[in-house]
Amino acid sequence: MIPIAKPIIGEDEINAVIEVLRSGNIAEGQKVKDFEEAFAKYSGTSFAVAVNSGTAALHVALLAHGIGAGDEVITTPFTFVATSNSVLFTGAKPVFADIREDTFTIDPESIIEKITPKTKAIIPVHLYGQAADMKAIMEIAEDKDLIVIEDACQAHGATFEGKSVGSFGDGTFSFYPTKNMTTGEGGIITTNDLEIAQKARMIRSHGSKQRYFHEMLGFNLRMTDIAASIGITQLGKIADFNRSRIKNAHYLTGSLGNIKGLILPHVDKRCGHVFHQYTVRIRGDGSRDDVVSSLNKMDIGTGIYYPLPIHKQPYYQELGYNDSLPVSESASKEVISLPVHPSVNISDLETISASLRDIIG
Ligand SMILES: *Cc1c(COP(=O)(O)O)cnc(C)c1O
Repeated sequence: MIPIAKPIIGEDEINAVIEVLRSGNIAEGQKVKDFEEAFAKYSGTSFAVAVNSGTAALHVALLAHGIGAGDEVITTPFTFVATSNSVLFTGAKPVFADIREDTFTIDPESIIEKITPKTKAIIPVHLYGQAADMKAIMEIAEDKDLIVIEDACQAHGATFEGKSVGSFGDGTFSFYPTKNMTTGEGGIITTNDLEIAQKARMIRSHGSKQRYFHEMLGFNLRMTDIAASIGITQLGKIADFNRSRIKNAHYLTGSLGNIKGLILPHVDKRCGHVFHQYTVRIRGDGSRDDVVSSLNKMDIGTGIYYPLPIHKQPYYQELGYNDSLPVSESASKEVISLPVHPSVNISDLETISASLRDIIG
């Protein structure tokens, strides 16, 4: 079986964890500080604040900006549910804009249509490892005085016009095992704003700067030194991991051209795409699901990200969402992600490409 995702944990990660365990300092400590410093440098930001998941990073970033009841936050429905759930948890209302047909990222034109006097922030998602149109989004944000929180949970190392994601607005990253790099579970907020960094640090730890003195309401969302030690090691390898993903994606794009009905990933020329996913599209209702079951029978793992847009999820239906977002709705019926993670080798790629040709070529 060629799996759709596989974390790469080597002796370096194992030794780093053992070192922390032997030290006895296993909760948040020096390793977290070191990881934050290294990640801020990697993202080209002044500060990074580590937390225990990507979801927590989104939630804390929103709270640090004071977003809450009565506010609206514009985002995409074609993402993992954590993006908009984090908005709900603050008491604010997620408002969904549609996506672009070619890149599957949020459509700036649709953002403009959704702005109201209550809009406080935009959360663009850098989906599949490709940045959203940050030029257009930052222009809208500046014009309308909106906060931008980038959901870069799938896009470690991705760039837009040469600049790292997570450095346009404030950034949020996940280190779940399927992501481009991992800490087991984990997340981080990147920012150039000292005040936001300080608030985020407080929110992550019961609203305190000094232990047992609480200036505001907070949670326990801290990262452990155990996780941070894995993160430091993985950060040393992320450039190689991403290079493998990009190379594998190029191979598939080279070998899957000219199959009728198969649409290959579109790379925006301004983007450094890091191929968290290599996502193709198969037109027509139901065809996608047939292709998935054929590939799976041939021991080729696939992923569908995402089969139901958020505004159509049962919980959001209960909340009364009844938007029509046709581009997201049709994408959710037609996308398939194929394995390109760093453990996929050339013979796997040949198998994937030959099998797809067999099925639909
Ligand atoms: C993974 C992911 C998240 C959530 O990250 P967790 O670490 O799983 O909490 C949020 N947004 C997107 C787009 C993701 O892919």
